[in-house]
Amino acid sequence: MKFDPHIHSVFSGDSRSEPIDILIQAQKIGLDAIAISDHNEIKGSRLARSIPGDIIVVPSIEISTEKGHMLGLGVDEIIPKGLSAVETVDRIHDAGGLAIVPHPFSYYRHGLFCNVDSNLGVDGVETKNARYIFGYSNKQAQTLAERKRLARLGASDSHFLESIGDAYTEVNTKGYDSVDGILKAIKHRRCRAMGHGTSNFLVAKEVFVKKVLRRYPKRDE
Ligand SMILES: [Zn+2]
Ligand SMILES: [Zn+2]
Repeated sequence: MKFDPHIHSVFSGDSRSEPIDILIQAQKIGLDAIAISDHNEIKGSRLARSIPGDIIVVPSIEISTEKGHMLGLGVDEIIPKGLSAVETVDRIHDAGGLAIVPHPFSYYRHGLFCNVDSNLGVDGVETKNARYIFGYSNKQAQTLAERKRLARLGASDSHFLESIGDAYTEVNTKGYDSVDGILKAIKHRRCRAMGHGTSNFLVAKEVFVKKVLRRYPKRDE
């Protein structure tokens, strides 16, 4: 099944995608499952999960640790930002989730393994982040995943509807197409990174919109 585990929604502060529109787009392009992994926030993830439909929504959060970003895949609670990477991994596991390092070697995106040793006990890494598909950082992640036998995930890290699913994770759930089935498959490394990079045009658009968002902050909830 096709799973995009790293999509940002309007609740992230740096995206304008509404959860309902993310689900519609995911369905349109043939994804089976998604996770909304907003920065230190789970409102978008929870909202998406409350909307009935065919797309499986895995709870998630992208946590800003002291030294870089970490996804808590399967986590349906706020894990505070600013904790050490080690403590964040523990908290994610205590919450029943998987610790996945997004864009691990991307210096400009708070890549965790630019700053801390990779012996953290994480479950997986993004080896294909659609925003860095040609970059050296994805290659480094691939090498690390092979060396440490980590799960390899592909993700769009989308801040725009149009870039959802550009990269994604193919998960072998062995027929258990559910949140638990997906988490179990990734835990047992039954997954691989697929897809392609997001066009430079869209990434440039994102940078522009971020500047606008800074001037006009997100709506009040
Ligand atoms: Zn990030
Ligand atoms: Zn992200």
